[in-house]
Formats: sequence, C-alpha cells, structure tokens
Amino acid sequence: MDMPTMMRAWRVTTPGPVDASGAAPPLERVEIPVPAPLPGELLVQVEACGVCRTDLHVTEGDLPVHRDHVVPGHEIVGRVVAGDGAVGDWSVGDRVGIAWLRHTCGRCRWCTRGDENLCPYARFTGWHADGGYAEYATVRADYAYRLPDDVPAVDLAPLLCAGIIGFRALRRAALPEGGRLGLYGFGGSAHLCAQVAIGEGATVHVLTREPAAQRLALELGAASAAGAYDAPPEPLDAAVLFAPVGDLVPVTLRALDRGGILSIAGIHLSDVPPLVYEEDLFYEKEIRSVTANTRDDGRTFLALAERHGVRATTHAYRLDDALGALRDLKAGRFDGAAVLVP
Ligand SMILES: [Zn+2]
Ligand SMILES: [Zn+2]
Repeated sequence: MDMPTMMRAWRVTTPGPVDASGAAPPLERVEIPVPAPLPGELLVQVEACGVCRTDLHVTEGDLPVHRDHVVPGHEIVGRVVAGDGAVGDWSVGDRVGIAWLRHTCGRCRWCTRGDENLCPYARFTGWHADGGYAEYATVRADYAYRLPDDVPAVDLAPLLCAGIIGFRALRRAALPEGGRLGLYGFGGSAHLCAQVAIGEGATVHVLTREPAAQRLALELGAASAAGAYDAPPEPLDAAVLFAPVGDLVPVTLRALDRGGILSIAGIHLSDVPPLVYEEDLFYEKEIRSVTANTRDDGRTFLALAERHGVRATTHAYRLDDALGALRDLKAGRFDGAAVLVP
C-alpha cells in the first residue's frame, strides 16, 4: 500500500462550547499531513477512536491548552503501518491501542518506585500531543498496548480509557479475592469494571439511581442493584465511587465492613460533608483517590478484559461526525460510549 501524505482530522481551534449557536465551533475538520513517527514511535492507522468526556473538556477549554490546534482522542485502536522498520517487538500490521498516558519521565521519585501515574512530567494523548480524531496517529512503542485481532475495533476503543481508569480504581480498592464489592454509579467506566470484578469472582452490588443502569448491572451479573443512597444487602469489603457526588462518601463508608476501602474514581467530586469518625472511619476503613493509570494497569486490564470477554456498550459515528458526537455526548443523547470510525 502506498502511504498517503495527507489525512482527514479534527483539531481544536479556539476552545469553547461545542453547542453555542452562531459562534464558530471549537473543532474544525481539516486535511493535514500524516504525522511522521519519531525514532522509537509507531505510526498507526486508526480503525476506531472512542469519544471520552475528557475530549469535551479539551475542546471546550475546561482543561488548559497544552498544544495549539491539538487533535483530540485517546481511545485509539489501529494497525501499525510504519515505524523504524519494526520498533521494539512491534511489526507492521499488528493491532495496537493508544491510550491517555503517552509519556512519563522515568526518573522522578514516583516513576522509579513504580507509580508512574503520579509523574509530574507525564504527557497525555489528545492533550499534549495529537490524538485519534484522525486517520493516523503516533505512539511511542513502549506506551502502545497489544490488542486482540478478533474483536471489532469499535468494541475495543472504550476499554482504552474508561476501562483502564475503572480498573485502576478497582485495584486501588484492594478487593480481597472473592470479596464483596459495591459500585456507586454505573456509567461507561463502572460497567467495564464490573465485568472484570465479576469475572474474577467478586460479588458485585451496584448502587445507582438510573433504572436502566440497574437493569444493565443485573444483566451483566451483579448480585443486586439498588438506589445510590440505599444500603447494599450485605456489608462491603470494598467500594468504588464512580458518581462525582461527595454526599455519597459517608453513605459508602457506612456500607463498608471493618477494614473496608473506598476508592474514589473521579477526577472531580463535589464537596464531601463532615464525616463522623466512629461511624464512617473507625475499624480501619480507608478512603483512597485515583489518579490516571500506570502502563501495568493498562496491560493487566486489557488481558483480563480479553479473558473475561468484557464488552463496552457502544454507539458508532463516522469520523466526519466528530463534532456531532461531542454535542450528543454533552447533551446525553445516547447510551453507552460513542466511537468514531474513519
Ligand atoms: Zn478518557
Ligand atoms: Zn516521572
């Protein structure tokens, strides 16, 4: 195949609301050169790219600009089309995943102790560097993930952010083997996390206000589903709070058994009300936050997802409809995860 020199892509112009009438949209469809991989990087032909809420934050300016005219998108599934021959143990034609974390320094106190998710010099796909709202993207070979060949690209894309981050939150909850897990909130990340936990033998109780999400939870094998403020049918060894609702922190803590751990998955959380030490924290209950992920989280999650046949609920859009997909995401017009297909 002759490599094209130009490609279709979307890039952020001036960050602003995607749904403002009258104003120029903050994302424009352009023809730009196919990126040239640097030494150690792979060039990837994009098969599918998931649409994450973070892309909306980048496009609307809720996150500061790190690269002018950035191409958003960090849930990229594709095929290696070029590198320096083959980079590392990657070959042309390999299925590859590109995720949010694309660089860490490797030298700071956090990198050297295995906590690269906390690296202050980390860089992210679709924010510091161009992402997957395009026909081609690049990735450092040592930050690329192997993906199965026999699963549709659209089904794999949401695993690369929603899936990996949800799994990081599950790991932080340190659920004992065969333990009792509570999931508070049941959106894109939680429904992937639940499938891994159930596959690994956990008893999962889902607590969320949405009846449709409760039904999906039971279909996926949850032991119970109830409202977010309801008590689970048994005490929990661990809980993950996916809903960005600080009021739920004492609710989840009271649902924990002695020694239970609450892991808070979100980047944002509304204020946490005062806690009552005796009821909420005594008996060695713990609260933990979650920040990004390590590559080990990504590799481990993707292997478990393959083993347990974890599937995302998806809604496909053509790449040319990226702006429409972001508008629909903002307006809550679809269930499941939007995925762009070039
Ligand atoms: Zn994301
Ligand atoms: Zn570092």
